[in-house]
Amino acid sequence: MQHCQRDRDVPVFYFHDGVGEIGSKHPIPRAAAQAVVQVRFDARPLLEPRHCQILPQGGARLPCRTMYGNLQPSRQAPNPAAGSQAISTQTFASAEATRKTLRRLLATVPILTLVTGLRAQSLDRAEQRLRASITAAREQQIGYLQRVVDVPSSTLNLEGVRKVGAVFRVSLDSLGFKTSWVAVPDAVGRAGHLVAEHRGKPGAVRFLLIGHLDTVVEPTGPNFVREDSTARAVGGADMKGGDVVILYALKALQQAGILRDLNITIVFTGDEEHPGEPLAAARRALIDAAKQSDIALAFEAGNRADATVARRGASAWRVIATGRQAHSSGVFGEGAGYGAIYEVARILDAFRTQLVGEQYLTFNAATIVGGTDVSYDTVAISGTASSKLNIVPSHAVAHGDLRFISDEQLQRTRERMRAIVAQHLPGTDATIVFRDEYPAMSPTPGNARLLAVYDSASEALGYGAVAALDPGRRGAGDISFVAPLIDGLDGLGALGSGSHAPGERVDLKTLAMQTERAALLLYRLGKRPASQFTRTSAASDK
Ligand SMILES: [Zn+2]
Repeated sequence: MQHCQRDRDVPVFYFHDGVGEIGSKHPIPRAAAQAVVQVRFDARPLLEPRHCQILPQGGARLPCRTMYGNLQPSRQAPNPAAGSQAISTQTFASAEATRKTLRRLLATVPILTLVTGLRAQSLDRAEQRLRASITAAREQQIGYLQRVVDVPSSTLNLEGVRKVGAVFRVSLDSLGFKTSWVAVPDAVGRAGHLVAEHRGKPGAVRFLLIGHLDTVVEPTGPNFVREDSTARAVGGADMKGGDVVILYALKALQQAGILRDLNITIVFTGDEEHPGEPLAAARRALIDAAKQSDIALAFEAGNRADATVARRGASAWRVIATGRQAHSSGVFGEGAGYGAIYEVARILDAFRTQLVGEQYLTFNAATIVGGTDVSYDTVAISGTASSKLNIVPSHAVAHGDLRFISDEQLQRTRERMRAIVAQHLPGTDATIVFRDEYPAMSPTPGNARLLAVYDSASEALGYGAVAALDPGRRGAGDISFVAPLIDGLDGLGALGSGSHAPGERVDLKTLAMQTERAALLLYRLGKRPASQFTRTSAASDK
């Protein structure tokens, strides 16, 4: 899905105007949001990365990069209904200056990398072993990536998806995982999913690691072309690279004697890019696995300096309007009324004027069909219409999507849309129907805590700070289906560019970095009891 939209320019963060206020079921504590606002303009943010980290109430340590966040989303008018806190224009001016300073500072990143490299001594012996075995396996890991990239596996190439799954299955079997291929009902029309389980220490945190085997583009055959430190590779970053990051992190954990204690379920879905329907059946294996897990870690394409603690959800909506078919000379009159097309136009315009501007809420009108003879196929998103210029139209349909950051925002928006639809023009009628697609991955305190652990692992490895990616820049993904159940972190996979296109590239020189960070994250989190990561405890320590 649209999970690959990125901005590599400036790390972004979005808690600054109290995103918890816009309706998350698990709001970031107000103190945390305010603390970020207070320290954002610290004079020494980048040069002393740890200096500006803070410990807000609730214990979520927010990585320091968060505070030079891109403030653009807040330039939209604050929405009183959303309860967001306004930030003064003076603050925006300061922010602009800070961003300019930031760009200059970013030019010094190589020096900073050297400085932060000195922190590698904070790795314990096991972590040093993890790093050494990942470094030693570098070429083997790239070879493995080539092997799975060279098997074409676009979503509807069911055999190809299963073949890629079989390669990973053998590798996970050899690491001691109990693996199975979980088929989906025939009606769903997809390949199914690879599920692998490893049981470690009872009572320790239970991980759910999420990957996917399918790609958007179907290459004609082997397509991995290594070009120095990158490779052209369909699915190289999105997300066979992420799957390989998982595998080689697990291999290193096994070599270091750590894997045996870890409780891990892996789900590599076969249809992330084009999920089968009904979604409940297509995502049952993933959701069932989440019910037996405490933390979800997803390895969609990553970035060096950010990870994903929130993704917007997606829903579809359709407005169906009817009018009285009549002679056009009578339009707006008592007999003929306004017609179905004016009614749809009224509704769409009211959506635009009344709902636009709320942070993280978007609603796109994708297509519209109207006239006297109207057909519309909701699956193909395709329709036909015919009429005469002298007829008041009897039918009109508009179809679009809705993106939201929390279920509360979704439900509240749907209510407002229904209320707008209900105010019919004379002589018309209209209804709106909604379809659930992806739930939102809301920014929870638990997600922020996971990011903090990842950030500190990255710092310890000398790879610098990791901040939260602006959820407005990431679409829905598989982790969204489990986000209502457990906390999670996404964007931990391989770096690259050009996802969903034939020219996709994967960055080979950062593959080890992502693998080391993943291995350390699993190691550091794995030592903790499951009770530290349940939603219940996250809620109680607010
Ligand atoms: Zn993907």
